[in-house]
Amino acid sequence: MKKFLLSACLAGENVRYDGGNTRIECETFRKLVESGLAVLVCPEVDAGLSAPRRPCEIRGEGGGGSVLDGKSEVINDEGQNLTEQFVKGAYMSLEKALENGCSVALLKHRSPSCGSTLIYDGSFSGKKIEGKGVAGELLARNGIRLFSEETLEEAIKYIEEE
Ligand code: SF4
Repeated sequence: MKKFLLSACLAGENVRYDGGNTRIECETFRKLVESGLAVLVCPEVDAGLSAPRRPCEIRGEGGGGSVLDGKSEVINDEGQNLTEQFVKGAYMSLEKALENGCSVALLKHRSPSCGSTLIYDGSFSGKKIEGKGVAGELLARNGIRLFSEETLEEAIKYIEEE
């Protein structure tokens, strides 16, 4: 069994931008979390943002990698630049993963922080593009294997393997 980083909203914590959560309703997953293997993070709230908060998206091409490289920004739907907080939150998540020996992360898909395959395109129109969120990208760059709730079965199998 492996310790794993887990998006707090997937565990039922009310940390999402709308003040709610996206709890995964699955008995096997619940047992994994209760067994103490899960290390909960919310890169955005950990970095000091409130819940609820304005929705944010990555503006510019290249997703989270481009943000980490200083080429794109994270903005909210009022145009406020929150890049600094998103980068800070990503590094806080990486630190937690390393401190706890997590080699895998189960992250909320499509989030500008936690996304691992798809994110919104920065136009706040609901259009999705390929790319990772800022924390997802930083974790992947540091060798942490990413899963989302879309690949839950695969994630559980991988976590349960010795
Ligand atoms: S930053 Fe990640 S953990 Fe926090 S609410 Fe968004 S998707 Fe969930």
